[in-house]
Amino acid sequence: MIRFVINAFLFAALATALLVIGQPHQLSAKPTSKVVDVRLGAHSDATRFVIELTQSVDFTVFLLPDPYRVVIDLPEVAWDLEPGQELLGRGQISGYRYGLFRPGNSRIVLDMEGPVQVERAHVLQPEGSKGYRLVVDLAPTDLETFAKIAGWPERQTAGIAQPTPKPQIGALQRPARKKKVIVIDPGHGGIDSGAIGKKGTYEKAVVLATAKKLKETLENTGRYEAILTRDRDIFLELRERVDVARRAQADLFISLHADSLSNRSSLRGASVYTLSETASDKEAAALARKENRADLIAGVDLRNETDDVTSILIDLAQRETMNHSVTFARTLTPQLGRVTRLIKNTHRFAGFRVLKAPDVPSVLVELGYLSNSHDEQNLGSRKWREQLSKAITDAIDTFFENLPAEKRAARAG
Ligand SMILES: [Zn+2]
Repeated sequence: MIRFVINAFLFAALATALLVIGQPHQLSAKPTSKVVDVRLGAHSDATRFVIELTQSVDFTVFLLPDPYRVVIDLPEVAWDLEPGQELLGRGQISGYRYGLFRPGNSRIVLDMEGPVQVERAHVLQPEGSKGYRLVVDLAPTDLETFAKIAGWPERQTAGIAQPTPKPQIGALQRPARKKKVIVIDPGHGGIDSGAIGKKGTYEKAVVLATAKKLKETLENTGRYEAILTRDRDIFLELRERVDVARRAQADLFISLHADSLSNRSSLRGASVYTLSETASDKEAAALARKENRADLIAGVDLRNETDDVTSILIDLAQRETMNHSVTFARTLTPQLGRVTRLIKNTHRFAGFRVLKAPDVPSVLVELGYLSNSHDEQNLGSRKWREQLSKAITDAIDTFFENLPAEKRAARAG
């Protein structure tokens, strides 16, 4: 394991960050340093990764396997870089991404072609027109060496998440509340951009804008309290998103996304997904795999996570919840059809991790394709997002109006 310069300040910042995890993130640390440039260089046998900053920073570098990654953790920094670009790799680096990982903790993840070791990692002082430069030199290594040096820094292993509440018996029984609680989950965020559109639209940005509009529209009715899993450009683990809904004992959970397909720019339209052990079709299965990769993309420590992605054990509480999820999906699709095109078989099923709250009806909505210019334009339009929020709100109204009748019918049968 390789670690560089962890001083008391950084440790304190991370310790604070660990305490607030699992809460909707509203903390706003003030970044002191700004990243103004990122450069990659391939020199014979080594690959150099450089970021230029306005202030010096302390940092940690570590290596991860499956897939090969180099993670660089920094205190929260601002990113003053051209947005909306695919970040192409060079040399041993096949691609990279950066962004906010936790409050107070920015992160860069480099995807590597193969096993590497860190030859050098240090901050150079300003020189001429150049500011502070954090330089990381990487060289290929053999599997055996990599296995010895790769791994999680010890301080990251413990106490990340708050305990998850036990599923309730009778999944939809809630404390007496005047308002229904809707948890809206804008997908991705921070270091995980999600899909990127043709014109450079970030999925993480448009789903956040949509989520905020939907929250406002719901709350304006006076019938709902809406909670966002994130309200700024920050990363959240999939499990944390589920936990926000469960702790709030939410009546409904809606995860918002937008897809992108590299070879099918003509395909457009919205779709709605609910949880299932078996995917309804190949495309739904592929989409779930893509969305489930979010934690991997951000370099999350999943060692303590039970491997529940492939097998979803559905107990009785969950079955009731799933029936409600399906009912809501069926209510939602015609409403979405009022404001946008729909893909064929609009309601599909697959093993999405973010839909796994056993006691909160949950759907995932793909609002459209950022690889299609019409959909990209819609998602970027304030007016369209307003119409969409109204349509989803109408669907939510209908869903709750019909619930009591459905329960009576179930008892009579
Ligand atoms: Zn997504």
